[in-house]
Amino acid sequence: MPLVIVSGLPSSGKTTRARALEAYLRERAQQEGARITVHRVDDESLNVVRTAYATAMEEKKARGALLSAVERLLNRDTIVIADALNYVKGFRYQLYCVARAVSTPHCVLYCGVPTELARTWNQERGEQEAYTLQVFDELATRYEEPDAMRRWDAPLFTVTHEDTELPLDDIWSALMLRKAPPPNMAT
Ligand code: ADP
Ligand code: MG
Repeated sequence: MPLVIVSGLPSSGKTTRARALEAYLRERAQQEGARITVHRVDDESLNVVRTAYATAMEEKKARGALLSAVERLLNRDTIVIADALNYVKGFRYQLYCVARAVSTPHCVLYCGVPTELARTWNQERGEQEAYTLQVFDELATRYEEPDAMRRWDAPLFTVTHEDTELPLDDIWSALMLRKAPPPNMAT
């Protein structure tokens, strides 16, 4: 089953959106009589702490943990929502390759809120929840915005703070597309 790659700045509303999508996908699957399990994987469930993003080494481990979890969970009956920063385009490519290896569709859900707003939302979070300002600013500088012209960033669904709703039906349709197995694993 398909993979949803969530991407966005720290505190840009990724988990809020991912939870809404998770609930919708469960309900829709039930309505359609599809035996689908929906899994949302995030830093919390992987025991990745906020401070992991302060060092390159810890951050690499966090990415490895997410990639392994997606590899482990993604199968014919499971939709996986990768609810993490996913800000490195090469890493989104790696996640896309996991979906492609099991011949399942994927899409990218980009929480494209302005940096200033995400910074404000971050500062309003409790101490346990917030990223430090330094980490926030570093991640914001390094952030590689999804681009629908890249095949691993497409289909791309972008939501901003002005969108009250996710394009739920469109996401469902994108995820339910049947995919032929790739002819080979070359890019
Ligand atoms: P992320 O998973 O990207 O770190 P969260 O979904 O956890 O972001 O949200 C970060 C903070 O921003 C939370 O305190 C949340 O309540 C707040 N937030 C998220 N979306 C909105 C919104 N649309 N309007 C106002 N605050 C929001
Ligand atoms: Mg989150």
